[in-house]
Amino acid sequence: MSNSKLVDFTQLSPNCTKPRNHVIDTITIHCVAGNCTVETIGAIFAPTSRQASSNYGIGSDGRIGQYVDEANRSWCTSSGANDHRAITIEVANDGGAPDWHVSDKALAALIDLCTDICKRNGIKALLWKGDKNLIGQVDKQNMTVHRWFANKSCPGDYLYSKHPYIAAEVNKRLGADTPTPPAQTPTPPASGSTALKVGDIVQFAGGSIYTSSNAATAAQTRGKSRCKVTQIASSGKHPYHLISEDGGGVYGWVDASNASADGTAPVASFTPYLVQVTADTLNIRKGAGTNYPVTGSIKDKGVYTIIEEASGAGATKWGKLKSGAGWISLDYTKKA
Ligand SMILES: [Zn+2]
Repeated sequence: MSNSKLVDFTQLSPNCTKPRNHVIDTITIHCVAGNCTVETIGAIFAPTSRQASSNYGIGSDGRIGQYVDEANRSWCTSSGANDHRAITIEVANDGGAPDWHVSDKALAALIDLCTDICKRNGIKALLWKGDKNLIGQVDKQNMTVHRWFANKSCPGDYLYSKHPYIAAEVNKRLGADTPTPPAQTPTPPASGSTALKVGDIVQFAGGSIYTSSNAATAAQTRGKSRCKVTQIASSGKHPYHLISEDGGGVYGWVDASNASADGTAPVASFTPYLVQVTADTLNIRKGAGTNYPVTGSIKDKGVYTIIEEASGAGATKWGKLKSGAGWISLDYTKKA
């Protein structure tokens, strides 16, 4: 096994298993969840206490870093079975949650790197169906994503949505055909509701929120609220993308049965309540989950008013502050 000649920077991480126990037949693309250079990614993976690494990393400037030789298994995807057979690639983000956008230069470098990995390892074509059930069936799908193995949004909605494009571009360069995915029938709206248009104000009935229209598992759940339809997917089980009209930020993709056109109906009222913060420092986040950026912190163990609840990554329950400052984990509070 060789390494890519496209590498601009190398800082090998001690966090890996030598050698890998499987041939390379899979590529797993990750997002860094930050705008890191290849040098910064190398520094992140350097301490043994970090217990994490990737084979490659790509900065927003399109430069490529190497942290684990291809001959070895990186500690990247929360799955030994996956990482023993996969080349893992961390890509820097020039935007935040939930999209985790990557620059055009990084995307172009990613396509070049994937092409090079396929050529050197005898992978004839990249196959992507967005189907978690095909993990390990590399004759049908040889790209995997971190969110299938752990409760994470990685690789972010942007790179996830680019997987068909990445596969097609790599396959063009390899001279391989990209198999046409079978047509998917959009889920019709629930009976009794009319089809929605972009811009419609809807009542979200409460329930699961997904990071893409065909995601297998929910990223979080939210209570009832008024939302606006910002995108409609032509396929997938969760066809409507919603943002909150009540200051709750971007929700994500939801089932048709959860979004009713009757947006003028009053939302079932939530009774605000007081909590006392029990942690010395409690982060305030832009949304309900540790995957949202920190916007501030509470250090006074004070009493605060919660006006909405949601469940999300990293805590049993999240509460929205009346001040509008953001969301806090209710695990570090008690009812006041
Ligand atoms: Zn990841």
